[in-house]
Amino acid sequence: MQTKRLFIFLLFLGILGFFSFSNINNPAQKPFIVVLDAGHGGKDPGNKGNGFIEKDIVLDVVLQVGALLEKEPNFKVIYTRKTDVFIELNERGPVANRADADLFVSIHCNSHNTQAYGAETFVMGVDKSGKNLETAKKENEVIFLEDNYEEKYAGFNPNAPESLIGLSLMQEEYLDQSIMLAGLIQNNFVNNLKRKDRSVKSAPFWVLHSSYMPSVLIELGFLTHNTEGSYVNSKKGRKEMAQEIANGIISYRKNIALATNNAQNPIITKEEINEAIETTEEKIYNEVVFKVQLAASSKKLDPKPQNFKGLEDVTRNKEGNLYKYYYGDTSDYNKIQLLKTYAQEKGYPSAFVVAFKKGEKVKLSEILTSEDQ
Ligand SMILES: [Zn+2]
Repeated sequence: MQTKRLFIFLLFLGILGFFSFSNINNPAQKPFIVVLDAGHGGKDPGNKGNGFIEKDIVLDVVLQVGALLEKEPNFKVIYTRKTDVFIELNERGPVANRADADLFVSIHCNSHNTQAYGAETFVMGVDKSGKNLETAKKENEVIFLEDNYEEKYAGFNPNAPESLIGLSLMQEEYLDQSIMLAGLIQNNFVNNLKRKDRSVKSAPFWVLHSSYMPSVLIELGFLTHNTEGSYVNSKKGRKEMAQEIANGIISYRKNIALATNNAQNPIITKEEINEAIETTEEKIYNEVVFKVQLAASSKKLDPKPQNFKGLEDVTRNKEGNLYKYYYGDTSDYNKIQLLKTYAQEKGYPSAFVVAFKKGEKVKLSEILTSEDQ
């Protein structure tokens, strides 16, 4: 009965949320601007695995994504290229900056000298494992085709993508939102198209590093893989992937509109959340601590409420090269769900629950499916 109350409460929030974002169709609003970047072009064909041509496939997919978005109310689409032309890598991000775009989406196809396959979506960032550097290196390599690249890309060695990390990283600030968009697209690929999930990853891509907005780079699949290459190149494959990318972008806009709206005009108060916590049955997992991750950044911020949209008792933890900022600290899974909803309401649309066991971060799915609660 008590658990039922929790779900009714969350459902109630969802319905309020639906009505509060219904004004995104208001034509007076600034359009939501998406810059679509078809990788490569002109003298740079991209990869040619199995004889398929990356620059042609990605242009076709980009044009289809754009056509789908343009059918939606209040979307504006800008293309870095609409034809088979060569565009320098450092010209692509600035197109988005000049347009004051809300999103930058770069689309590519992968290649490998093995039969590796699957779809993956990247955000800009460090790659501690080093495994993603190979992909970043291949996509950065086009710089060698440009005139005077040593001058234009001073301090950056395309053969050592890590060197990009030393340069200024504008993308840091948008990491959470980029991860949210990447996750939505990746989920659509995996759930709706049954593609192999190579997951959301971070790596230093030049094309992503200079834009002032959430940005992702999609690797549609491996042209070098015998069956996946044919799928990615096929009319059916291109159409399906374009639809799922467009749907991911549309969901992203809804999430952002909802969060912005709620942050300005909160539909639930701290008191209401506290009351919901008190009246909801506990669901305790022994030796487990749940927290809501609000943000990840290389910036060391004081976790005081002013820095976190008024949220109290935010904690900071250094993990690898990043500081992670958490809200809430409880062994009660029902309570953390309510706190997550509250954090999303306060303007952290991509907030999510993480679990720690004996101080170590563990997968939430492992905790929730384990028997010994
Ligand atoms: Zn590419």
